[in-house]
Amino acid sequence: MEVTTMAQAMQLHAQALKLGSEPHHQNYTKLFTFSALSPSGDPNYARLILSSLRTPNSYYWNTMVRSYCDSSDPFQSISLFLAMHLQEPHRTVPKPDNFTYPFVLKACGKLKDAQIGKQVHGLVLKVGFRCDKYVWNSLIHLYGKCGVLGDARKVFDEMSERDVVSWTSLIDGFVDNGMCVEGIGLFSEMVESGIVPNDATVVAVLRACAETGALEMGRRVHGIVEELGIGERVNVSTGLIDMYCKCGSIDSAREVFDMIVDKDVCSWTAMIHGLANHGMSREAVRFFDEMVNAGVNPDERTMTAVLAACRNAGWTTEGCLYLKEMRKRYGIRPNLQHYGCIVDLFARSGQLEEAEDFIRKMPIMPDAVLWRTLIWACQFHGDCNRAERLIKELNIDFDDISNFVLISNIYASSGKWHDKAVLRETMSKQGLSKPPGSSKIEVDCRVHEFIAGDSNHIEAHDIFKKLEEIDERLREEGYKPEVSEVLLEIDDEEKAFQLLHHSEKLAVAFGLIKTKPGSEIRIVKNLRSCGDCHTFMKLVSRIYGREIVVRDRIRFHHFRNGDCSCGDYW
Ligand code: ZN
Ligand code: ZN
Repeated sequence: MEVTTMAQAMQLHAQALKLGSEPHHQNYTKLFTFSALSPSGDPNYARLILSSLRTPNSYYWNTMVRSYCDSSDPFQSISLFLAMHLQEPHRTVPKPDNFTYPFVLKACGKLKDAQIGKQVHGLVLKVGFRCDKYVWNSLIHLYGKCGVLGDARKVFDEMSERDVVSWTSLIDGFVDNGMCVEGIGLFSEMVESGIVPNDATVVAVLRACAETGALEMGRRVHGIVEELGIGERVNVSTGLIDMYCKCGSIDSAREVFDMIVDKDVCSWTAMIHGLANHGMSREAVRFFDEMVNAGVNPDERTMTAVLAACRNAGWTTEGCLYLKEMRKRYGIRPNLQHYGCIVDLFARSGQLEEAEDFIRKMPIMPDAVLWRTLIWACQFHGDCNRAERLIKELNIDFDDISNFVLISNIYASSGKWHDKAVLRETMSKQGLSKPPGSSKIEVDCRVHEFIAGDSNHIEAHDIFKKLEEIDERLREEGYKPEVSEVLLEIDDEEKAFQLLHHSEKLAVAFGLIKTKPGSEIRIVKNLRSCGDCHTFMKLVSRIYGREIVVRDRIRFHHFRNGDCSCGDYW
């Protein structure tokens, strides 16, 4: 009898008990394996079977450890492992073997518990699984998941022979923990050492390319994907679409998308999100309609993408309509991210009253991010009274650096220098500092990072010289630094100096030095663009005849011939 549902498994169990079959009977194994490992199984039922057996062998125990490690309660894997290790309870329990360790390590990784992981690691060394690649790879994976990259690297370096899984686990660990440049470096090293990547490796490195805006490297990975013939796999094609979108090449994303025969919700969503972030809101909505017409149902993330399209275009009515349709037509309950898009929509277009009203009437509890969006907009639109009222009412928690920065900016823009100074003092007492602006630019497959005011780059001297030259040329064309944006108590000249050394300006100067005349310059920034940098980029694009693509924290700006694709609305 085939087992495909839990009901069938239980029926088989009852039959076995009635017939008094021996527990080693194959029916037992069948129903146990189904309950433990099938997505429609039930680990707790499998556990029941395990405890009803007099002397379950290591297959049963290991399957149980594996079952719990993929469940919502991975701690159970560890507790079973301990029972095996200590040989408890008092009947015969098999010792952990090379099939047990990988799963218990995976469970530690899921719990992000490096402490227990390290103890298991100690046992691995003691029992002598030195040569078992499978166990060793699981250790790399564990340390990567826990963010202990030094240990991950150490295990990797100690291995006598590394396979594609070892490399992928290490790359994944670096990328997961935001060290994307290192992840890309490892990938190159791996390919050079002759190891053939698999789809998991490709997905990990594409994520790193997307994060850092490394388009050249991304294209190289695309080439490898084609050589390997794995472009048809959904995770790979979605990774490619996402990479091209985030690296600013929407046309290439479109090409990959068009080649997919069976487009699923992930591929559609990646494309819609990309279009939305590039400010191509009409296209994004058209794609959404096409997707629905093709019979693919949207999920939560698709709706986030559509709402982002409305947000970036400032379409308040359409945004509210999609929010309503979400539940009614597609049965998706809106989450905080969806509500956040609507709040942002109202707030950015200056409808502060509506935004506040919307937050107060939301059916779910608003979080700090939502309130912050509104308070930020109050500052932007000059409604400091509302901002201060909200700050008082909400009793904002000062543990979070972004709250500090926000409130400090509000005090500065309403000229309350004293309040701001007091706040700064509290901030430094708590050891908090504002995250610096950082911009990345890729030149010849290498990503260079610039921090605002940074003079650490080896070519800093040339970059600063170039910046002065650009500044001069721009001023001849009527550019005036928007010093009012610098919320510090310093004189205008100093303010202009600070503005000129914002990270994206350093990156664009470097780009102008390092790339061929007429070629495109792409920059990825960690924060929202300031007004001055925006004007600066528009002028550079016209005067130097360059297309400049800047990805900021929220969206893309394509600067061409003195204009930006965002229409100055961001
Ligand atoms: Zn700036
Ligand atoms: Zn723009």
